[in-house]
Amino acid sequence: AKSHGRGNFQFFEAAMNAATHERLMMENRLWQALELKQFELYLQPQVELASRRVIGAELLLRWHHPELGMVGPDRFIPIAEESGLILPLGEWVLQQAVAMLQRWQGQLRLAVNLSARQCHGGALLPLLDRLMAQSGVDPALLELEITESAAMQDPERSRTLLRELRARGFTVAIDDFGTGYSSLSYLKLFEIDRIKIDRAFVKDIETDPNDAVIVTATISLAHALGLGVVAEGVETEAQLAFLRSKHCNEAQGYLFARPMPVGEFENLLQPGNLD
Ligand code: C2E
Ligand code: CA
Ligand code: CA
Ligand code: CA
Repeated sequence: AKSHGRGNFQFFEAAMNAATHERLMMENRLWQALELKQFELYLQPQVELASRRVIGAELLLRWHHPELGMVGPDRFIPIAEESGLILPLGEWVLQQAVAMLQRWQGQLRLAVNLSARQCHGGALLPLLDRLMAQSGVDPALLELEITESAAMQDPERSRTLLRELRARGFTVAIDDFGTGYSSLSYLKLFEIDRIKIDRAFVKDIETDPNDAVIVTATISLAHALGLGVVAEGVETEAQLAFLRSKHCNEAQGYLFARPMPVGEFENLLQPGNLD
């Protein structure tokens, strides 16, 4: 039995090494990806429900690896976050975002995801100041999305950061609202403009009475606090009708469009194509 146990341990150790090795490989590939320009940005339109117009878009990262193929952000953002790569990568994303807003000449808002490390590291404000200086871009058109859980990692710091961002005229949204198991009292603490209702609540809105109640209450709460609401992951006409009946301000999801390459989105942007 003893040797058997030892065998299991060796097996375990080997598996551990394989996992660590795999992880290191991914990390190396990710650092190279930045140099090799393997990251690509996609855009998903955001629709204003009252006017049915596209009023903005969310910027979403993609990684095209020659052998691994298309790798989604859920697989690489956590590694980029842990290894620190998120800082240069996030800088590249923000650089591209400001350039996009310059091209769009005030026509649309652009939402960018910030990671926890970016928010709590201290380099974000100087970076944004540098990128915005002489860009001619209205800061209100750059919406910075911070997830509820990232914000709650350090509420005091987040409070200061969000206040600083808004003092500079940027728009701030709380992403993945309601998924962080945090108390609602942070809404009083943080200065924000908008909340994004997570797809987890929108998905079963028609069939799960609890989700319907949560979404309805979230919209009322946001409006009572003077905040806008975006619903994520809208896939069906029935979900859209429900959200519209509750006066949700905006929505994004496959019903309108999947995230698409920037070039494709900008083709739709030609005069007249946005109506
Ligand atoms: P997120 O910010 O909550 O982004 C929304 C995710 O939902 C996106 O996944 C989007 O493609 C997907 N989605 C949109 N509409 C629908 C729909 O109707 N149905 C379904 N099933 N999914 C929909 P994606 O692009 O895979 O991004 C995953 C997450 O990765 C994002 O979640 C965000 O947290 C993170 N992420 C993406 N880009 C960046 C980035 O530039 N920086 C950072 N820090 N995180 C990023
Ligand atoms: Ca987001
Ligand atoms: Ca989200
Ligand atoms: Ca999410």
